[in-house]
Amino acid sequence: MALIKCPNPECDYQQETTGLATVCPKCRTDLRGAMEALGRSGGRTKDPVRNDSATPHEFIVRTKGLRKEYRMGDQIVAALRGVDLDVRRGEYLSIMGPSGSGKSTLFNMVGGLDKPTSGSCFIEEVDMAQLDAFELAWLRCRKLGYIFQSFNLITVMTALENVTLPMIFAGMSTDEMMERGKTLLELVGLGERLHHKPFECSGGQQQRIAVARALANSPAIILADEPTGNLDLQTGKEIIGLLKELNEESGVTVISATPDLKMIDVSDRVVHIRDGGIERIERREEIDLQVGEMGEH
Ligand code: ADP
Ligand code: MG
Repeated sequence: MALIKCPNPECDYQQETTGLATVCPKCRTDLRGAMEALGRSGGRTKDPVRNDSATPHEFIVRTKGLRKEYRMGDQIVAALRGVDLDVRRGEYLSIMGPSGSGKSTLFNMVGGLDKPTSGSCFIEEVDMAQLDAFELAWLRCRKLGYIFQSFNLITVMTALENVTLPMIFAGMSTDEMMERGKTLLELVGLGERLHHKPFECSGGQQQRIAVARALANSPAIILADEPTGNLDLQTGKEIIGLLKELNEESGVTVISATPDLKMIDVSDRVVHIRDGGIERIERREEIDLQVGEMGEH
């Protein structure tokens, strides 16, 4: 935690912060400048994802010897058994493996949602284990966009409210949020559904809202955990097509888990995992061959 002070000279508000407040609770002064400054240098924090070098890091995500064990009563389940993985900036990477192979566990580690038992995960060469709660919240909010199998939208909120929610945490102004929210929903083909609630939308539309929400704060990485798992084949392919389009047009790195071979032909590489370990990694050319072969049978 870091100490934040209200920039208003007439206000004496100061508090340990989680990094999520955007206005001073005492005088309503905008705290975003102060939060940003904290993120850059303040307290004992550093900007966790600032890239000071002239050339961006080639590998946006790296894991080294990543292990995760869960305790189930007196049993220990090894969900990840030492995963070494380098993901290039701008890459579309699919993580392929059967149910229980460790895909979600790997996501939770890379996404900073859970901590490994041992080993390390680096985002833009920053070791996530070295970040405090404030820095981790900052990184998750600004650098990562999440998409889940079950959409995870907030049911009482409209499409636009769901999409703008992460922008509140990033401290965007209301006008800016509304404009960006609309633009993102238009981008995913839902310009006509801004004020619909999730239950008024089809599964495919709900996942599109989730895609727009993942893009809210212009993340460097989109993590999609079985994004097509609750969709029919055609709708699933449309969502994957949308992710690929975003990947190509904006350069966002996409890491998508899937148990389904039909969803991987957009990938630059496919990482096959089994029993918590990488079995093999296929490159683009090899994937095309495989999908082509499938079509012939
Ligand atoms: P996948 O996403 O590929 O289906 P998971 O990462 O969810 O696989 O699970 C990998 C292994 O870890 C499985 O054996 C699963 O039962 C176990 N596991 C996952 N989460 C937990 C948990 N919270 N507690 C105990 N075991 C877990
Ligand atoms: Mg899973």
